[in-house]
Amino acid sequence: MTQQRVDAVVIGAGAGGLCAAARLAHGGLRTLVLDDHDRIGGRASTEEIDGFKVNIGAIAIEFGGVFEETCRTVGAPLDIRTPEPAASFFIDGKMVDVSRGGWSLLLGQLTKQAARILEKFADARSGNLPDGRQSTEDWLKSYTSNATVHAIFRNLCAAIFACNANELPARAFLTYFTGKGAFKRFGFCPEGTIGVWNALASAIQRNGEIWLSTPASKIHVRDGKAEGVTVMRQGQEVRIDTDLVISNAGPKATVALAGEAAFPPPYVLRVKNDLRPAANIVINIASTEPLMTHPGIITFGRTRRLCNMANLTATCPELAPPGWNLYVAYAVPVPALGDFDSQAETELALQDLREQFSNFDKARILSIRVMRDDWPAQRSCAGYDLPIQTGIEGLWCVGDAVKQYGNGGTQACAETAKLVTDTILATRSRAPLAS
Ligand SMILES: Cc1cc2nc3c(=O)[nH]c(=O)nc-3n(C[C@H](O)[C@H](O)[C@H](O)COP(=O)(O)OP(=O)(O)OC[C@H]3O[C@@H](n4cnc5c(N)ncnc54)[C@H](O)[C@@H]3O)c2cc1C
Repeated sequence: MTQQRVDAVVIGAGAGGLCAAARLAHGGLRTLVLDDHDRIGGRASTEEIDGFKVNIGAIAIEFGGVFEETCRTVGAPLDIRTPEPAASFFIDGKMVDVSRGGWSLLLGQLTKQAARILEKFADARSGNLPDGRQSTEDWLKSYTSNATVHAIFRNLCAAIFACNANELPARAFLTYFTGKGAFKRFGFCPEGTIGVWNALASAIQRNGEIWLSTPASKIHVRDGKAEGVTVMRQGQEVRIDTDLVISNAGPKATVALAGEAAFPPPYVLRVKNDLRPAANIVINIASTEPLMTHPGIITFGRTRRLCNMANLTATCPELAPPGWNLYVAYAVPVPALGDFDSQAETELALQDLREQFSNFDKARILSIRVMRDDWPAQRSCAGYDLPIQTGIEGLWCVGDAVKQYGNGGTQACAETAKLVTDTILATRSRAPLAS
């Protein structure tokens, strides 16, 4: 076994890991990032299929939050293009553009109870939130029984949180839509989402390294403190000594890497009992005939499982060979937080697509991916997150199982990275690198 020393090891080159590594490297710590895959980006990466750049997970990158601030801080260019209009609803075959009228325009067309629901949003904005036990569906039922309104709320829960309205705490839904970014401003990356991670990777490489196809096999802990990581690199075991380990592998895998005995028992119990991985189904579609003309993301009204769909090439034509349109549709199974039949749930999503788009059968399906179990849509559904602290000194978690309450997506992962690295850098005085 060979041995070396760095200031910090980051296990996993997903959104949270890369944001954390870029911030640490920029803050002056020599940082090593490991990933077991042969590309960066984790569940927000991009693969090539027959000349199409196909995203594995995230497509919409939010402007104006911690992620954009991270890129600015570390000097990574953020090359994303905003579709205009960005988000609309596709209800009973009609497009409803909410870019100006927002919730009141949308709900006002559907229910006489719109004012009551909007009042509750206003209450939430001033901090008056339901407790974490009531589901979004039950909360909404107290104000309306309108089936289309319920379908829209279900599809919003599905699109943002990868779960159903009866699985998401109303508190998390309202926290997100009244206090977080809520995807009001976002863009698509013309290289595929991996483009934004490539920019962060360049920033990391100014003061660190990224080792791909390199699984971490052990986190070493002694007397309650992290002291290193063992990895398999090109068929050889390598021991990296460090007193700072940031894990982007999720709390469950982190506990397995260090061994249960290393952690305080209450933390191990929370890892076993509290995490609720959320699932979704991703259908990448290529078509020479347009399926939709709206350039951004549409959220559907009444469907079986389909929740939203993005028109990627309207804004980023370089994602497809000339003459082709590239779309991605998302569906969320029932249940999304428990076991389900992947094949049957996918079939329901395809039925929805045929129903929504009369020319769907002329399109080509590039890939269908069911994100579940250990490679889920969210490592834990909003409202069921663990803390960034692990109970071991020098060992932290980042990523979408340790989000702040009610947050979601890559933005939430970037926020976990900021919280962890701000704490670390506040206690370690190293000269920051110039951007
Ligand atoms: C279909 C889908 C659509 C989505 N759409 C959006 C969207 O439009 N916008 C948005 O903001 N978010 C979206 N999300 C959510 C977003 O993609 C995820 O929340 C985010 O990418 C998760 O990042 P993470 O930091 O948790 O790391 P992960 O993506 O989980 O990455 C962790 C990495 O660590 C690696 N790893 C694990 N164990 C080891 C080990 N032992 N050694 C080395 N490496 C290891 C993993 O292989 C992985 O590469 C979507 C998610 C999905 C699935």
